Amino acid sequence: MVGRRNGARTEALSAVLAGRYGAVREQFAEHFADPLFRPVTDLDRPAHRRRTLEQLQALARGGGPRLGFPADYGGGGDMGAAVAAFQLLAFADLSLLVKAGVQWGLFGGAVQHLGTERHHRRYLPDIQSGALLGCFAMTETGHGSDVQRLRTTATFEPDTGEFVVSTPDEDARKDYIGNAACDATLAVVFAQLLTAGRSEGVHAFLVPIRAEPGGAPLPGVLVEDCGAKGGLEGVDNGRLTFDHVRVPREALLNRYGDVSPEGVYTSPVDDETKRFFVMVGTLVQGRISVAGGALSAAQLALTIAVRYGEQRRQFRAPGAAEDLVILDFLAHQRRLLPALASTYAFHFAQRHLVDELTRVTSAGVDPTSDEATKDRRRLESQAAGIKALGTWHAVATIQTCREACGGAGYLAENRLTQLRADTDVFTTFEGDNTVLLQLMAKGLLTEYRDEFGELDTLGTIRFVADHLVQAVLERSGVSQLTQRIAAVVPAESADVRDRGWHRDLFAWRAEHVVDSLARRIKRQVDDGTDLFAVFNSVQDHVLLAARASTEALILEAFGRAVDGCPDPAAADLLADCCALHALAVLERDRGWFLEHGRLTPQRSKAVTSAVDDLCARLRPTARTLVDAFAIPEAGIAAPIALGAEAERQRLRREAVDPLANR
Ligand SMILES: Cc1cc2nc3c(=O)[nH]c(=O)nc-3n(C[C@H](O)[C@H](O)[C@H](O)COP(=O)(O)OP(=O)(O)OC[C@H]3O[C@@H](n4cnc5c(N)ncnc54)[C@H](O)[C@@H]3O)c2cc1C
Repeated sequence: MVGRRNGARTEALSAVLAGRYGAVREQFAEHFADPLFRPVTDLDRPAHRRRTLEQLQALARGGGPRLGFPADYGGGGDMGAAVAAFQLLAFADLSLLVKAGVQWGLFGGAVQHLGTERHHRRYLPDIQSGALLGCFAMTETGHGSDVQRLRTTATFEPDTGEFVVSTPDEDARKDYIGNAACDATLAVVFAQLLTAGRSEGVHAFLVPIRAEPGGAPLPGVLVEDCGAKGGLEGVDNGRLTFDHVRVPREALLNRYGDVSPEGVYTSPVDDETKRFFVMVGTLVQGRISVAGGALSAAQLALTIAVRYGEQRRQFRAPGAAEDLVILDFLAHQRRLLPALASTYAFHFAQRHLVDELTRVTSAGVDPTSDEATKDRRRLESQAAGIKALGTWHAVATIQTCREACGGAGYLAENRLTQLRADTDVFTTFEGDNTVLLQLMAKGLLTEYRDEFGELDTLGTIRFVADHLVQAVLERSGVSQLTQRIAAVVPAESADVRDRGWHRDLFAWRAEHVVDSLARRIKRQVDDGTDLFAVFNSVQDHVLLAARASTEALILEAFGRAVDGCPDPAAADLLADCCALHALAVLERDRGWFLEHGRLTPQRSKAVTSAVDDLCARLRPTARTLVDAFAIPEAGIAAPIALGAEAERQRLRREAVDPLANR
């Protein structure tokens, strides 16, 4: 049997994975009854774009996109449900997921979070219904990661009461913008606000770019199509250039800064850098959604590869009547099962982010309180780390699955090549992963204190040297250090699968790397090294600090899921997955742990043996683990995962095999 196996354990695991979003998932699965949502191959770019737009409009009619918008404007008021629903779009087509993310997450999210009541009333109902299609124009040809220095200008003229939006040169042209090439009529344009002869920093403006979807650009707007991309061909990415385009004063999304009719600028956030980070921080939902979309793609790829691995036969043991299924080879298990276990880990880390997003954006929370501010900073920082590691994990896992399916994996109908092409850029958009890890490290180094928001990169270096090292020194006083080291260097005979040991070890590494980074910065600053040179020389350390902290966070989230699992059989399975995930990370990084005296050579070898043992132990339940992702059969769609290989094997068995007795 090839379809989903609905055993009690699969059901229990599915329920744990779905959490409070089970109903959202079921509602979404209904879309697959409509052939419009079935994955197809062989579409040329114009046809793919048309189909993606049709899918987007059908989604809007279904009402799902309303989930995350405020109830006052016809929305569902549940940001967590919106993210959970969004990530399921990956099973239909990642182009649809990205186009929907632009329309409702980026464009709609910017109007919601950066605009005020006048914008909400006027635009949110039409954005939700899809009657108004928009785009989010932040990146410029010359400024992608460093968007604070983008160069489009919006100059206020008191005489006319208008902003004049201009692209000073090609470097300042908006680039890669989703929905811009064909469908968007309104753009959220990020530009330097100029009034009364002063620049007030980056703000967002609503700028009409065409009268109707597919129509010609409006006067003063130049639209270019980005053309062929490495994937996501259903999304119309474009470039925008503005030649003195006039928009009314009210086009400014004015939640964090406004201009009076006389041209006087006011803002509730005085510091320009802090204001910029506060504005960008409100868009964190986009980053969390991208991480979720990549995770769904990894789940789909693993479902295809594990199903195929259970049917595909190669090589015969001496005396055996049949060839072995490839998933019975340890090497094959080693490729797929740690990746599967880590996909579970990322699932629970993503759940943590979604829960936190729901909590910090819920109606009862006072967003101006110190605690709420710190919570939001922590969420931004954690979302940056999990988006970076999660999208890298997805890209690597999809490639592994492609190879694990051999030549069949390379056929477009089996979906893996498309998933690989489409997820590639997830490591770049919504923040380049390397740059995001630097953002995460900034949160760690400043401990999310008030200064976090105001500090640019060099300010962070100065802050660490001035403020943090004393705290670090106190934290790593000799007696505490000895106790912590004792906890993470257990007796040689202790079980390497012990979850408490994994947790302590990951937490110790996270703390140690941040502490040693702070000391290194302090030493160099005290020696008089130029701040930029300090920043540059510790970048590898910064990235390791972010990675180590994110990995500790992911393991904690997985541990909580195991502890909270109400079904004992499902909990046992989750505990094995959690151990395999942790041990696979330990095995990958054993050089570091050996160098730092946290692993002996014997224990390091024991880790490798334990990975082998756990792979063998999880092998019989591999199908249960992927079936629990509960991807609708129509959303899997790959013939090799739907029984084509099993059927071929059956026919072969039934036919007279001329080599059977050799
Ligand atoms: C398909 C697609 C869709 C997109 N959609 C949109 C959209 O709808 N709206 C929008 O506004 N933008 C969009 N973007 C733009 C996207 O967000 C940017 O490409 C991204 O932020 C990276 O910017 P960049 O391309 O300028 O790369 P760069 O910032 O030039 O980065 C290039 C390389 O330099 C490295 N690097 C940069 N700074 C540092 C540093 N300080 N330290 C170490 N390494 C560094 C990066 O890690 C990266 O590897 C899209 C991009 C693509 C490809």
